[in-house]
Amino acid sequence: MYERQGIIKVAVPAPLHQVYDYLPPQSHPSALRAGTRVRVPFGRTTKIGMVVDAGAGDGQAGYELKTILEVLDDRPVLPDATLKLFQWAASYYHHPLGEVIFSSLPPPLRQGARPEKMVSYRYHLTEAGLDSDPGDLSRAPKQAAMVTFLRRHPDGASEAQLLHHDARWRITVRALIDKGLIYRNKKTSPARAIKESDPDYRPFRLNPDQTGAVEAICDRLGGFAAFLLDGITGSGKTEVYLNVIDQVIAQNRQALVLIPEIGLTPQLVARFADHVRAPVAVLHSGLSDKERLHAWLLARDGEAGVVIGTRSAVFTPLLRPGICIIDEEHDPSFKQQDGFRYHARDLAVMRARQEAVPVVLGSATPSLESLHNAGQGRYRRLMLRERIGNARPPTIHLLDMRAGGHENDLSPALLKAVKTHLEQDNQVLMFLNRRGYAPTLFCPGCGWIALCPRCDAHMILHRSRHRLHCHHCDAQQAPPAQCPQCEAPDLLALGQGTERIEEALQAQFPKTEIIRIDRDSTRRKGAMQALLQRIHEGGRQILLGTQMIAKGHHLPNITLVGILNADQGLFGADFRAIERMGQLILQVAGRAGRADKPGEVYIQTHYPDHPAFRPLLSHDYQGFSRMLLEERRLAQLPPCGNLALFRAEALDQALPRRFLQALHHQATALSPEGVRLLGPVTAPMEKRAGRFRAQLLLLSTQRRALHLLLKALIPVLEGLPGARKVRWSLDVDPQEMF
Ligand code: ADP
Ligand code: ZN
Ligand code: ZN
Repeated sequence: MYERQGIIKVAVPAPLHQVYDYLPPQSHPSALRAGTRVRVPFGRTTKIGMVVDAGAGDGQAGYELKTILEVLDDRPVLPDATLKLFQWAASYYHHPLGEVIFSSLPPPLRQGARPEKMVSYRYHLTEAGLDSDPGDLSRAPKQAAMVTFLRRHPDGASEAQLLHHDARWRITVRALIDKGLIYRNKKTSPARAIKESDPDYRPFRLNPDQTGAVEAICDRLGGFAAFLLDGITGSGKTEVYLNVIDQVIAQNRQALVLIPEIGLTPQLVARFADHVRAPVAVLHSGLSDKERLHAWLLARDGEAGVVIGTRSAVFTPLLRPGICIIDEEHDPSFKQQDGFRYHARDLAVMRARQEAVPVVLGSATPSLESLHNAGQGRYRRLMLRERIGNARPPTIHLLDMRAGGHENDLSPALLKAVKTHLEQDNQVLMFLNRRGYAPTLFCPGCGWIALCPRCDAHMILHRSRHRLHCHHCDAQQAPPAQCPQCEAPDLLALGQGTERIEEALQAQFPKTEIIRIDRDSTRRKGAMQALLQRIHEGGRQILLGTQMIAKGHHLPNITLVGILNADQGLFGADFRAIERMGQLILQVAGRAGRADKPGEVYIQTHYPDHPAFRPLLSHDYQGFSRMLLEERRLAQLPPCGNLALFRAEALDQALPRRFLQALHHQATALSPEGVRLLGPVTAPMEKRAGRFRAQLLLLSTQRRALHLLLKALIPVLEGLPGARKVRWSLDVDPQEMF
């Protein structure tokens, strides 16, 4: 007989801030361990939950406990280290542990599937197959061809190779297996690098800045240390990561690399696969559920040397963690904006601390948060001061749009520069952060504007799809042929989107190929790759795009960059708007120019005297960020203060504010020292997708005080009047304020 365990604590995916007590199943022969999945009775149904504590005393709960119905894993699927990270995340973001865990697991594990890797088969001829005479198979020509094919593959053939040879290979092979001429071998699929490594690959000789950075980081392998790798675009940061990873691999440890959503390109993965002498597993949103589980297990079981992924990969377990790297650490895509709202960069730093490995945050335009941490001595700052190959950074000019004389938001000076650069057979990049044709459809007769019926927002005109489209709720409709209000026939499209600029540029430069990169032109799978390929093939081209092109891509033939509307960033509703604009300008500018072809950047603005531009013109990101940090310090805004944002929404306009008002009362009653409450106020866009929204902001210079208050508020929230009628959420360290 085994010893009967006490209460088992189980985290269940439910929006409630607690874990649940169960009795261990009678029939289970061994003690349950944390990290094991179990099926438990829950309300009137059953759910899959995760054991988070298996030795929690012996049932003095005072009421009848239910018993675990089924144990799904013989041994824990989750290592303790990952469970510990989930627990920390749940408490820091004040989010239910069960949701934290289950929203981050590969879907098959959420659904109860076994943690099994994908297998593939190789097909070989048996002895009999090798000795057989294809002539004997003359009545089955496909089988004869298959035998001949496999004779040419003494090491066997993969399913992909067979498919290439014979579209209906399964039928052919099945028949030959039945005849005893073919057998198959099962093997675990290798880590999925998108490209096989290149046999001709030779690593670079690092320059002194790169060598210094690699040494500084490698000195600290085996313990926690945080580094900010600060180097302009093209200064060789990726090469630093690769050389650090070499040493991590040499110590038989694994590297976790986080990349922004759009930065994870096949080119980048190929660079890792070529350089690193270990399997590279890739985790991104394009994987099937099975592939995702496969990569996750390769990481967990130590079979992948490098794990590259976007935001959610921060939760991937590693058997032998060696380092965490976050590339483009300033990128907003590291923040999850709904559900379990976490910041992958911040979690990576905590994870590195828990697992006692170094963490490297790399960027050409570091976030103010990371600069602040470096300034306080929490991160060590490593600088790469020069672009590789002495490529000079491009010169940056402002174009004053108040002068007028332009059509379509393209100033004559910019068009002239485009012409000059194209005549030299160079490529030109035009940046506009607004897709579609025009942001407003307007009736000059009566003033009617096409508004989204469900949001406080204009419908965006998309001419190629002949659609009005709301970018906030995805509502779509055909554009009306005449004004729905006064029946005037001629509606005007006002303002510029990428489609319209494309049209205008094509009219100006009819013989030049224009490549537009935005969410619409890259929707199809593989479309982005195909477009990038065309750009790399070079030649005289105009490239036009949204922030999708500001990241990661090396576009060495571009010598001119035009930023068509910088003013969008100057007066955004968000206190981070200017920081984002500066980062975007320098990132886009960083795409231009190389040693033999120095670049130029033109920024169109109606506010050329805005102080934010001055440091940017001289690529002085340091000066730019120092100015912004000073403003943040005076306003006690992040990173010089801490924020938490409660949001509430409901179909009834009055409810969200009423609910948040009640929350405000509760918070004040707790008389929190050092925490300010702002609001409730209606959200900057009050109505979205048919719901009215309001928010309550909490600010404090003391993180601890803020979190103590949040911790006290969460349990009472559900009992507040109206709590059942609104949808509410809490965003700790919000990145966006609407
Ligand atoms: P970053 O990540 O800072 O943008 P990369 O590491 O991508 O910079 O380097 C920019 C370019 O310079 C790449 O094409 C890379 O292959 C090349 N490069 C990087 N380091 C070296 C080096 N030490 N010697 C020669 N070329 C290098
Ligand atoms: Zn009208
Ligand atoms: Zn809408």
